[in-house]
Amino acid sequence: MDIDPRTYNLSVDCLAEKLAQAEKAGKLPKVVVPVHMCGQSCDMAAIYSLSQQYGFKIIEDASHAIGGKYKGEPIGNCRYSDITIFSFHPVKIITTGEGGMALTNDSALADRMQRYRSHGITSDSRIMQPRPANEIWNYQQVHLGYNYRMTDIQAALGVSQMARLDAYVEQRHHIAERYDAELVDLPLQTPWQHPESYSSYHLYPIRLKLEKSAKSQRQVYDELRAAGILVNLHYIPVYRQPYYEMMGFRAGYCPESERYHAEEISIPMFPTLTKSDQSKIIDVLHEVLA
Ligand SMILES: *Cc1c(COP(=O)(O)O)cnc(C)c1O
Repeated sequence: MDIDPRTYNLSVDCLAEKLAQAEKAGKLPKVVVPVHMCGQSCDMAAIYSLSQQYGFKIIEDASHAIGGKYKGEPIGNCRYSDITIFSFHPVKIITTGEGGMALTNDSALADRMQRYRSHGITSDSRIMQPRPANEIWNYQQVHLGYNYRMTDIQAALGVSQMARLDAYVEQRHHIAERYDAELVDLPLQTPWQHPESYSSYHLYPIRLKLEKSAKSQRQVYDELRAAGILVNLHYIPVYRQPYYEMMGFRAGYCPESERYHAEEISIPMFPTLTKSDQSKIIDVLHEVLA
C-alpha cells in the first residue's frame, strides 16, 4: 500500500482503490495491518469503515505508538481494530529488552493468543477434549503454539517503564515543538500532524526539499553523521528489500513511498536529549543546509 504524503501512514484512498479491485478479482484480504508510522495514528475510523464494507479484520501495528492518542483516546484500546500490537524492543518508546504486547477486546482472541504464547497448551476444562476418567489429563495441547513467553524480569522492567510512559511522550512533544519552531526556515518539511492525532513521536522524520538545496540527501546524511549527529533513515520501502524483490516486486510500485525514501532523514528524538545537544543538532542542520 502506498503512503499518504502528509502523514506517511497507509493511504486510505489507495486502500479503498485496491479493495475495489480485489473484490472484482475475488481476492479480498482477510487482514489489513495498518502501521502507525512514527507514533501518529492511521485514519482508523476510515479503515474500520472499509473493514465493515469488505469484511476484513484489522491488526494495528502500534510498535511506534504506545502513549499516543487518536481522537482523544489511547492507541491500543482497539476501538477500530481486532488486535493492536506494541513492541518493547530497546529502540521503542518503552522497552523490556525484547518482547511486546498484543491487546484485544475479544475474549476468544485473548484466550487463543495466550495459548499460542505457550505451545498451544491449556488446562481450561472448557477447551480440553473429553478423555477417559481413569486417565490423568491435567493439560492438553490443542493447537500448534510457540514459546512467546516474556520472562518475569522483563515484565517487571515493563511495568516500571509504563509508570513513566506519559512523561516520556510529553518530553518527546517538547523536543518536537522546538524542532518545529527552529527548523522552520530550512529547506525541509517537518512532520505534519493531523489535528485528531496525539503522536507518541517515536521518530522525528524531516523531509529534505531537494529542489531548494544544493546538497543531495546522501551528502546531508553523511555531513550530519560526520558532525557526530547519529541520523538515520526510516524507512526503505519494504518491497525494495531483496526478499520481496525475489517475489517480483519492483521499484516504482509505491511512488509516494519511494519519494519519501529519497528525501527522509530521522534526526535524534529521545526523552533524555538535553537542551544543549538539541541546540547543537539544530545549529549543525543550519550549517549543513545553509
Ligand atoms: C520495531 C517494529 C516492529 C518489530 O517489533 P519486534 O519487537 O522486533 O517484533 C514491527 N513493526 C514496526 C513498525 C516496528 O517499528
